[in-house]
Amino acid sequence: MGETYKEFHRRSIERREAFWAEQAALVDWHKPFGKVLDYSRPPFAQWFVGGETNLCYNAVDRHLKDRADQKALIYISTETNQERIYSFRELHQEVNRFAAVLQSLGVAKGDRVLIYMPMIPEAIFAMLATVRLGAIHSVVFGGFASHSLAARIDDAKPKVMVTSDAGMRMGNKIPYKHLVDEAIRLSRFPPEQVVIVNRGLDPQMPLTPGRDLDYAELRSRHMQAEVPVVWLEASEPSYILYTSGTTGRPKGVQRDTGGYAVALAASMKWIYCGEPGETYFSTSDIGWVVGHSYIVYGPLIRGMATVVYEGVPIRPDPGIWWKIAQDQRVTVMFSAPTAIRVLKKQDPAYLKKYDLSSLRHLFLAGEPLDEPTAQWISNALGVPVIDHYWQTETGWAILTAVPGVEKTPVKFGSPSFPAYGYDVRLLHEQTGEEVGPNEKGVVCIVPPLPPGCMSTVWGQDERFVSTYFSSFKDRLIYTTFDWGIRDQDGYYFILGRTDDVINVAGHRLGTREIEEAISTHPAIAEVAVVGVADPLKGQLPLAFAVVKDAARIATPEACQALEKEIMAAVDKQLGAIARPSRVHFVTQLPKTRSGKVLRRSIQAIAEGRDPGDLTTLDDPAGIEQVKAAVAAAK
Ligand code: ATP
Ligand code: MG
Repeated sequence: MGETYKEFHRRSIERREAFWAEQAALVDWHKPFGKVLDYSRPPFAQWFVGGETNLCYNAVDRHLKDRADQKALIYISTETNQERIYSFRELHQEVNRFAAVLQSLGVAKGDRVLIYMPMIPEAIFAMLATVRLGAIHSVVFGGFASHSLAARIDDAKPKVMVTSDAGMRMGNKIPYKHLVDEAIRLSRFPPEQVVIVNRGLDPQMPLTPGRDLDYAELRSRHMQAEVPVVWLEASEPSYILYTSGTTGRPKGVQRDTGGYAVALAASMKWIYCGEPGETYFSTSDIGWVVGHSYIVYGPLIRGMATVVYEGVPIRPDPGIWWKIAQDQRVTVMFSAPTAIRVLKKQDPAYLKKYDLSSLRHLFLAGEPLDEPTAQWISNALGVPVIDHYWQTETGWAILTAVPGVEKTPVKFGSPSFPAYGYDVRLLHEQTGEEVGPNEKGVVCIVPPLPPGCMSTVWGQDERFVSTYFSSFKDRLIYTTFDWGIRDQDGYYFILGRTDDVINVAGHRLGTREIEEAISTHPAIAEVAVVGVADPLKGQLPLAFAVVKDAARIATPEACQALEKEIMAAVDKQLGAIARPSRVHFVTQLPKTRSGKVLRRSIQAIAEGRDPGDLTTLDDPAGIEQVKAAVAAAK
């Protein structure tokens, strides 16, 4: 004890194998590993070589001994007004039934199972059942349109698909099964069978005889099922998951088994400080990496109960999350800045209404957490708010505070320090040299990547190397494609994506910096800045801002006045060079389904180009508003 975080981190890099061997004791192994790391074929890293384990066993079976009757899964739906709670014993039963069903359909080790499901317990049973059999799941975010789904079917070539008749969002029905039918029509490698968890929401659901099967019926034949765990060598794949598609075509991340289990178990202890028997609430969706790591596997591996919430943060009212946190005595919460900014537009009284004394930390990730929002939520909740930075590719945090080792003070706007195991460097984009304090560089990781990170791009080893490890000549360095800066105290700040840097008359500005300056204006809830081609200066920043109160922009005069104030705020904080050429006001920004601002599309529209691939777009209204604002300014 008494080790500082700095020492802990240094040990994780300098005595890498000993460090991870220690962490590996946090999971159960069927067969112990021989070698901690095989890095004979860079940049492909194999962790815990020869060890055999299983994610489902670690998440479920191993808890039966000590906590069979403890809550494991707490399902709350504000869409269908349902609540169901499963103990570890009940979870074990349901997972075995689902595994028996999949097995009866011929699913075996290495087969793919595509899961396209709403946030219901059966989705999680299906994931756990798949990995129990040594098969590989590909969870596709429910509500993705059929051609996005078709592309993912063709990439994974699943033996079986699991879906539901419908999902619900904001009280509206989304016909999942119908979308699946369309996707299967569009795909070249359709599954042999489709298992449907029928919620009775879509009586018109069409069925294809011979292919479509009713889960309830299949389940009833396997009520007493006990399906043996299929042990996997640590490097064998557990799942495929696609990145959000913010910057272009999504990449199919392949995850291993042993390294992932160890990485998650360690993160639950050191980063999230969750204890067995407590309750974890991640507001993400199982379709995203946060859902995989911190709705399903992380909390369950730790022996914690996990909240599966089907609903939005503002229905029935903007206090719903905090009510859940109170009622379930949640100790760890995980959400995204985009959701917090939604709440910021609502009555802050909802945040004070509930007893949050059980809550120890709120973690946020997915997008830059601007300083005003960080400040606002910290004050409102009165618990530490920890911004942490990671990617689908890494599966867990790259930059974070690690309160389980040392409670380092948080700086608003910064995701703190490199997580243990990550040798993070900020490199000059061209030369690849390390930059100094307060200089901008590309956030890079010296390989081998730590346990839990992607093993390769599914089916495309070459793309793994060429996409992630080929930015600098003659050297294998993993690039995140994000821009960062480190201050004199060692705190990192993410400045935006490398694509998002604006070059104004030779000055390189991160869009994040300008957005941050604009967000300090009290009228602004959210803002996106993009660089637009300019014949004179190369590029000019252009801002699209969402106001908290529409009254501020009720007349053209009011808009002009506010625009002036915002420009003055930028001048003051960054200098006139960063001043946006215009600030357009909208009520909504175009976002990906995972809640990230689609800057590439905004930029394309502003430059009069085609907005590009919009399959990941959440609500078309955001794009329409940007188009309208740009057209009106002409
Ligand atoms: P694609 O790779 O398909 O373009 P994506 O990068 O949005 O999509 P994700 O893996 O979901 O896919 O998102 C990871 C990215 O999200 C990071 O590379 C970074 O740009 C951003 N991000 C995540 N967490 C943070 C954070 N705490 N602060 C700033 N940015 C963050
Ligand atoms: Mg990415």
